[in-house]
Amino acid sequence: MNNEIYNFPSYKIHSLLKKKEIKAEDVVLSCIKRIEEKEPKINAFITKTFDTALADAKAIDKKIAKDEPISPLSGIPISIKDNICTKGIETTCASHILSGFIPPYDATVVKRLKDAGAIIIGKTNMDEFAFGSSCEHSCFGTTKNPHNLDYVPGGSSGGSSASVASCEAILSLGSDTGGSIRQPASFCGVVGLKPTYGIVSRYGLIAFASSLDQIGPLTKDVRDCAILLNAISGFDENDETSIKQPKIDYTNSLDNDISKMKIGIPKEYFEGIDGEVKDAIMNVLKGLSSLNVEIIEVSLPHSQYAIPVYYIIACSEASSNLARFDGVQYGLREEDKSLFGMYRKTRSKGFGDEAKRRIILGTYALSSGYYDAYYLKAQKVRSLIRKDFDDAFSKVSLLITPTSPTPPFKIGEKTEDPLSMYLSDILTVSSNLTGYPAISIPCKKTKEGLPIGLQIIGHYLSEGEILSLAYHIEKLEKFL
Ligand code: GLN
Repeated sequence: MNNEIYNFPSYKIHSLLKKKEIKAEDVVLSCIKRIEEKEPKINAFITKTFDTALADAKAIDKKIAKDEPISPLSGIPISIKDNICTKGIETTCASHILSGFIPPYDATVVKRLKDAGAIIIGKTNMDEFAFGSSCEHSCFGTTKNPHNLDYVPGGSSGGSSASVASCEAILSLGSDTGGSIRQPASFCGVVGLKPTYGIVSRYGLIAFASSLDQIGPLTKDVRDCAILLNAISGFDENDETSIKQPKIDYTNSLDNDISKMKIGIPKEYFEGIDGEVKDAIMNVLKGLSSLNVEIIEVSLPHSQYAIPVYYIIACSEASSNLARFDGVQYGLREEDKSLFGMYRKTRSKGFGDEAKRRIILGTYALSSGYYDAYYLKAQKVRSLIRKDFDDAFSKVSLLITPTSPTPPFKIGEKTEDPLSMYLSDILTVSSNLTGYPAISIPCKKTKEGLPIGLQIIGHYLSEGEILSLAYHIEKLEKFL
């Protein structure tokens, strides 16, 4: 690793800024240089906001010159997934149907980042409307995995994870409905957290499945993840599902003692897993045993239903949420003599194949006569899945699993087979169905040098414990 600023985590940049050893402008220029060098190959960004980023950096530098206090994120370049609304900056969800849509307001998370002095460097590529696990379903082309350009970066937040892995951005925000922060974090070798449902506001996140969606951090390491979570979490009256809880500093938990911790290994999550992935996780467990952490096997008996339940609920909610894109209020409009003709033409042209597939599946599952058999049934099984987790958490504090059953796959490998793409979400979707938090952190690499992610799943509001265990694992170098 060279000594360029773009390689540093945010807290190192923060301390250099405070000591006036570098300027915020240097930080932004370093990331711009890196983006210009890397983007032609990686394609992590849909929109770059260099002009405003440089202007924002100069404003921070003025504050520093006057010895005014700065927050941990002041002057730190961050990339934002393009389904999070940014005032005055086109927000596309990687879909033609939103082309030209410029939000008149900032999402709450964006407002909080701006208030903390963070600098938006651009909007990142994603699967259209966050439907996917590979970043191949984007109308702006596929993002490539920075570790090997023949491989996918994961999805749907593949642009965000690739922008951090390639050091084009210091930090990034993604969204996770069924694994879209954790799986790309795993594929790109970075840290990605899906927080407890309700601790990060969804106001201004273009909805995919409202009962599952959460915004969360993608970062180079666990400390940065805690710092970014500090900035974006907390009650928001604009989000009806926002949880009221006192402000927490998650960096305080990092050094907590984990020696008496009990960790559960759900046996169902290790069946049918790629050999190298399994070995990598087992190796970390060995390292944890050496720290006197107790590891016991647990069972999540309804795991086999997680994928069907998730895809019924996610597609149903998506079909309803996407009904608003009809050519009237947002983005694309294809003219026609009749109103219905205009709707039809706009939606036919604006949505990609995967979005259409999900709208059709969801509309079917919600249609009268089928609602009880599909959506309602899925909601009932969702409760059983949550009960499995509650039972497990009565015995252990946290669970460790792989994030994805396989290492990154090749570009094009699964695009013709949606079912095999859906099955790759098997280890992540349950945390969205329960609403509980989960993180992916980098583990050992495969023989070919592709990243493998380890997932830590916790109970309701257990971010502090999750981050602490993740931080200790990060330090277990010889086992990684
Ligand atoms: N891969 C999952 C899906 O396609 C999850 C997507 C997400 O979390 N946004 O639905």
